[in-house]
Formats: sequence, C-alpha cells, structure tokens
Amino acid sequence: MRVVVLTGAGISAESGVPTFRDADGLWEGHRVEDVATPEAFARDPETVHRFYDARRAALAAVAPNPAHEALGRLERALGDDLLLVTQNIDDLHERGGSADVLHMHGRLRSALCAGCGARTGWEGPMLDAAPCADCGGDLRPDVVWFGEVPLGMDRIQRAVAGCEVFCSIGTSGAVYPAAGFVQYAAAYGARTLELNLVPSEGTAHFAEARHGPASVLVPAWVDELLGD
Ligand code: NAD
Repeated sequence: MRVVVLTGAGISAESGVPTFRDADGLWEGHRVEDVATPEAFARDPETVHRFYDARRAALAAVAPNPAHEALGRLERALGDDLLLVTQNIDDLHERGGSADVLHMHGRLRSALCAGCGARTGWEGPMLDAAPCADCGGDLRPDVVWFGEVPLGMDRIQRAVAGCEVFCSIGTSGAVYPAAGFVQYAAAYGARTLELNLVPSEGTAHFAEARHGPASVLVPAWVDELLGD
C-alpha cells in the first residue's frame, strides 16, 4: 500500500510548538511579511535571524508527541511505500522515529549559503555567524519563505500521483502548493483523508475527514491502516 502523509504545524501543537495561524493571524507575535519573505530578510536580516534563532532554540524544550511517534511506526511498517512530507521546519518527526522526512519548507537546524547554495547542519544562533567557508557568502536560515519554491516538488508529485492513500494532518489548507496536493491525489484515484483539530479550509476536497487532536487521531489511524 503506497501512502503519502502531509503534515503541518497542527501535528506539533500538542508538543508545545505554536501553530502559524492563531486567532490574531500572527506567527509568534510577528507579521509573516516581517519574518518569512526574502524581502524581509533583505530589508532587516537581524530581525529575521533573531526570529528563526528563537524558533531553533525553542526546539530544545519540546518533544515529539504520540502523533509523530505513530508516523515513525508507520514508516517502519511500510518502508519506501510511505512518503512523509512536512511543511514543518521543526525536527519532531525525526525525533519521533521517522528516518526519511521530506521537509518541503526547509529545516530550522540547517543553514543555507545565499552565495553558493551549500547546506550545513546548524544548532546555535545564526545571527553574527561567520560567512560560508566555501565561498564567503552570507548564511541564511534554510527555510522556504513566501514567494520561494518549496523543496522536493518532483518527488512529492510522483508520490502523490502514485499513492493509494493520501492523508493530511494538522494543516490549515491555506498555504499552496501543499494545500493543492489533495486534489491532485484524488484526481489520480487515491483515498483522501483529513485529520485535523477542526475542518480545514480545504476539508471539502477530502473524501473523509476526522476532527480532533492529532495525538489521538493519528495513532488510531495508523493502527487501523496496519490492521493492529
Ligand atoms: P497552520 O498553523 O496554518 O495550521 C495548523 C492547523 O493545525 C490548523 O488547521 C489547526 O486547526 C490544526 N491544529 C491545531 N492544533 C491541532 C492539533 N492538536 N491536532 C490536529 N490539528 C491541529 O499550519 P500549516 O498549514 O502547517 O501552515 C503553516 C506554515 O508555517 C508552514 O508553511 C510551516 O512551514 C510554518 N510553521 C511551521 C511550524 C513548525 O515547524 N512546527 C510552526 C508554525 C508555522
């Protein structure tokens, strides 16, 4: 059984990582345009670095929850028949036991050289970091900002077109292209399922939707899928 799982900020919410679209429409008190666009970084790199440095530091205080762990179990059962795609930039899937995670919006624990495109694993603050050892270029957070092209789209499109089950977990259905994967999967004949706290903006595109906390819904769905 070939399965594609798409996750968003909602799967990490119960681990204590705030989601993106809270009632105030801000991300951790910031307007998206001020911290998550290439224009913001060009205008005010210090503010953008401080924002991502704080998000990276906060990872030390959180841990994966049963939803991340259930997807680790699913990977161990399905192997290459599972593609786990996340919009999250945290590392809770990896810490929850998933070895192969496609981070389509990049990763907090990585630096990208704006000059040569080299990627380096990164732990501490990036503000005031030395330039790229290879080319002398400036380092930036290795995250995909609004207006930039998500990573791994060829692999995602192939997997979505070829899957039998497409499951979306904890994502608002507001950020494209991820929000469009469900329609693509359905057009190629996949069974589509949404697991989200409340109906997402895209809920009508799914054949089935279950609403509640990911820590409850995801382990139950994985048990069901694996016939446990
Ligand atoms: P979003 O914040 O727009 O939407 C989160 C969704 O999760 C909402 O529909 C909400 O109802 C649902 N949700 C909240 N708590 C839940 C729970 N306990 N169980 C199940 N569902 C729950 O997130 P998005 O759609 O992923 O888009 C946000 C963008 O911001 C992404 O591109 C991502 O890169 C970035 N982001 C990442 C993180 C992270 O890495 N953890 C956190 C915030 C934002």
